[in-house]
Amino acid sequence: MDSGSPDRQLPVTERTRHHRLREQGSLDRDQLDAILDAGFLCHLGVTVDGNLLVVPTVYGSDGSTLYFHGSVASRSLVASPAAAVCVTVTHVDGLVLARSVFEHGVNYRSAMIFGVPTMVTDPEEKLAGLRCLTEHAAPGQWDYARRPSRKELAATSLLALSLDEASVKIRTGAPDDGDSEDAQLGLWAGVLPLRATWGDLEPDPLLPPATEAPAHLTKRVGTAAN
Ligand SMILES: Cc1cc2nc3c(=O)[nH]c(=O)nc-3n(C[C@H](O)[C@H](O)[C@H](O)COP(=O)(O)OP(=O)(O)OC[C@H]3O[C@@H](n4cnc5c(N)ncnc54)[C@H](O)[C@@H]3O)c2cc1C
Repeated sequence: MDSGSPDRQLPVTERTRHHRLREQGSLDRDQLDAILDAGFLCHLGVTVDGNLLVVPTVYGSDGSTLYFHGSVASRSLVASPAAAVCVTVTHVDGLVLARSVFEHGVNYRSAMIFGVPTMVTDPEEKLAGLRCLTEHAAPGQWDYARRPSRKELAATSLLALSLDEASVKIRTGAPDDGDSEDAQLGLWAGVLPLRATWGDLEPDPLLPPATEAPAHLTKRVGTAAN
């Protein structure tokens, strides 16, 4: 298990203690930040009216807080402030193709965050949280696009979740059966990498023809997406 530098270690709680595949666990807060920075989509697990929901949703992170937003009518968001949630962020880096089916796996980076979110109601804090969320997924858009109006702000719920209780798991490298009896089978084994990249911009067909895409978007074309 990778611990990182002592002042950048994630605290271990009853919920975040790794039990299985512990060698893939990490206590390095820098690795948590890197996983969160590399993505913008999470899965928010929450209990609403006794039913468990796992909701895919966009997030923003400022290193100490995770922000989610949605309609004020969103049941998962409105229920969350009173309820504990578990949020996961996952990046798949490749398929691990072993000699035996049993040893097949996935190379990945993943994080789990536990806590009770708070609803952000202060207007300044809400704008700052929405800025963080927007800039996390699309850096440059907050200053480029029109900002939310008062009416739009009122129609938006923003939740803040502390990153104090979080865990990280990372798998890299080759299959685990290279030195097992199955190595004698003469089969190919290794990793089929998965790389996500941003594609070419697709202009809105309703754009006036002379409208140029801003540099903060064109420069992302062809770059790694996570
Ligand atoms: C893309 C992907 C595919 C996977 N496929 C499989 C699979 O097919 N079979 C399988 O057994 N496992 C798979 N895993 C690993 C899986 O997520 C669990 O880590 C593993 O199954 C152990 O689960 P557990 O409940 O026994 O963990 P425990 O060790 O009991 O979990 C204890 C605590 O460890 C932390 N933790 C556990 N898993 C993760 C995680 N992935 N990321 C961050 N923190 C974590 C949490 O805080 C959790 O509360 C996959 C992971 C990813 C990201």
